[in-house]
Amino acid sequence: RPLYARVDASAVAHNLARLRATLPRAVASGAAAPRLWATVKADAYGHGLARVLPALRAADGLAVLHLDEARACRRLGWDGPVLVYGGLYSQADALLLDSPGLHLVITHAAQLDWLAQAPLAQRPAVWLRYAGDIHHTGFNADDYRAAFAHAGSLAARGLVGEVGHLNHYARADETDGVDDADARFREVIRDLPGPVSTSNSAAMLGHAARAAATQWVRPGLALYGASPFAHRSAAQLDLRPAMSLHSQVVGIQRVQAGAGVGYSGAFLAPTAMDVGIVTCGYADGYPRHAPTGTPVVVAGIRTRLLGRVSMDMMAVDLGPVPHAAIGSPVTLWGAEGLPVEEVALAAGTIAAQLLTGLSARVPV
Ligand SMILES: *Cc1c(COP(=O)(O)O)cnc(C)c1O
Repeated sequence: RPLYARVDASAVAHNLARLRATLPRAVASGAAAPRLWATVKADAYGHGLARVLPALRAADGLAVLHLDEARACRRLGWDGPVLVYGGLYSQADALLLDSPGLHLVITHAAQLDWLAQAPLAQRPAVWLRYAGDIHHTGFNADDYRAAFAHAGSLAARGLVGEVGHLNHYARADETDGVDDADARFREVIRDLPGPVSTSNSAAMLGHAARAAATQWVRPGLALYGASPFAHRSAAQLDLRPAMSLHSQVVGIQRVQAGAGVGYSGAFLAPTAMDVGIVTCGYADGYPRHAPTGTPVVVAGIRTRLLGRVSMDMMAVDLGPVPHAAIGSPVTLWGAEGLPVEEVALAAGTIAAQLLTGLSARVPV
């Protein structure tokens, strides 16, 4: 089957350097530039941790969701720091704290009790998560300082390492999205010792001065070459897509005016037209909700999807590509001027969902 994804690790290395370059410029005076956690959760946003890890050697640490992923980093030879966003889900998780250099995000008080009670050879550094303006997990303004006192007492007894402060913005992709949120966070942690970490891709690229005033930043999406902004493309940000998805035309249908194309006849040919059938569908991770008009590149020419995406295939308009034939190359996203963000926008979703949703049946 001529469907495959290509992952370009050198693009990840480029994007990492590009993200790091946003930082020192914004540092006003002598202070050290923040260190950088490269976020590799969800198997490096669908790119494959093993594939991209060699390109991330210049990162200061890796950030994952769960301790199983931290172990995968170790198995692949990463011996630097690893930050675990999901922290501990149960007391038993503490038994997975089996290597040095682990950093745990702490989101509720019981996690600190689990750590205090666990018979651990390795004591992780901990980062208290402020619930912030996203209100997913973490301590709110009223209980943050009590959590810090609790963590500090464990640190004093040698039961955990350094205690840091972590926030994650809800609206970092907006121009005015972080100023208030950062001010509230800074007020909550005022006068508390310990390193601070706040910034994902959008915060680094859109609010560089805020990012540069921390000790650790945490980009994910931009490392893989997708723009976190609706109105600034990855190319404008000098980011290179790390994943592209390719297929071929495997059938051509000449349909008459009024004929339906695909399930439910969701597209009706307005005139007689040539329709290309491309082998790629929602079981491959292409979004089923991508409507007629979603851009597709066939034989180097931009054209559009027609009708419903089905499990294994989709239909495309060959009107702009009269020279198309069976076997003509097709780019679904990530190359030939078709960013994954554009496909995501057409389908009413975001690039991260498409990248992490690439199905296991697609060879890379
Ligand atoms: C996923 C994640 C990030 C990375 O976010 P991007 O928007 O992909 O850069 C940073 N911090 C936390 C807490 C996350 O969960």
